[in-house]
Amino acid sequence: MQAPDEASFRAEARGWLAANLAGEFAPLVGSGGPGREHELIVQRMAWERRLGEDGWIGIGWPEGDGGRGLPWSHQVIFQEEYARAGAPARVGHIGEQLLGPTLLMFGTAEQRGRFLPGILTGTQLWCQGYSEPDAGSDLAAVATRARLDGAEWHIDGQKVWTSLAQFADWCFVLARTDPAAQRHHGLSYLLVPMRQPGIEVRPIVQLTGTAEFNELFFDDARAAATDVVGAPGDGWRVAMGTLAIERGVSTFGQQLGFQREFEAVLANARAAGALADPDIAARIVEAWVGLQVMRYTALTTLGQSGSGAPGA
Ligand SMILES: Cc1cc2nc3c(=O)[nH]c(=O)nc-3n(C[C@H](O)[C@H](O)[C@H](O)COP(=O)(O)OP(=O)(O)OC[C@H]3O[C@@H](n4cnc5c(N)ncnc54)[C@H](O)[C@@H]3O)c2cc1C
Repeated sequence: MQAPDEASFRAEARGWLAANLAGEFAPLVGSGGPGREHELIVQRMAWERRLGEDGWIGIGWPEGDGGRGLPWSHQVIFQEEYARAGAPARVGHIGEQLLGPTLLMFGTAEQRGRFLPGILTGTQLWCQGYSEPDAGSDLAAVATRARLDGAEWHIDGQKVWTSLAQFADWCFVLARTDPAAQRHHGLSYLLVPMRQPGIEVRPIVQLTGTAEFNELFFDDARAAATDVVGAPGDGWRVAMGTLAIERGVSTFGQQLGFQREFEAVLANARAAGALADPDIAARIVEAWVGLQVMRYTALTTLGQSGSGAPGA
């Protein structure tokens, strides 16, 4: 299908958001941002389903996989309009922005057919199980291990900083499946159901008093033998594919959301006469510079992706 021109697509997105962020969803405007991740969570999950019903999830995915096949430009426009409308922080972005594109790149037809519809309809939430207490920047130090026994992987270990795990139905887990292999070798990318006795989720309460992050403990947790993306032992390549798309189109929306917060802070500082304080003025300038860097980094990333291939 030919993509609509950018102006009419922008009008369509803006119109849809205005019409739908009303009634039961009106209280969601501006909700769920940093420090408020817990806010109106049930309503925000319902909002995910509303987005899905009207085809606003996975708009860049191929039509054959349930998306709309829209180019980057349109995806950015949607993100811009979403932020401008003050629409709520997404609960489903890890599935839509990370796991979905990963399955499009590396998943089997069976995996795409089984998992993409739940993401597209906003009915299945995902979290990302990469970081561990001793494997953050040094991700290849992952020590969570999985052992294949018949039809199931048996998983033991710990993840940390797992965003939104308390709401997730599934987690994509980077685990060591070949105990003899070192570092980047012998890892596998497993799709693990969250609601099972072998998984414990412990929220990490932040300075704000709320918890976006969690610790995840695996004690003989199970995943189906077939729920591995890419070949067993080839998890590093798949995990890097996911990371390559993590800072894509959605960064624009985030940047616009931060821009709105920045403007509110600036207005408050002006009203309170706080800009005369050089420390406050310097911090505000620093935040503004950070916003510009974020914006131009995202533009550069998208510019380099040329053909629109995810991860380029
Ligand atoms: C908002 C947010 C959401 C997140 N959500 C998730 C999630 O859902 N799932 C998940 O798996 N993870 C998540 N993370 C975790 C994130 O990926 C890790 O924070 C990241 O991998 C860094 O690991 P670390 O925090 O252990 O820091 P460390 O790796 O311990 O780094 C600490 C500091 O040391 C520096 N450093 C590290 N190594 C070197 C080096 N070799 N040379 C010089 N400096 C170095 C780092 O730059 C950093 O300043 C999230 C993080 C944030 C901030």
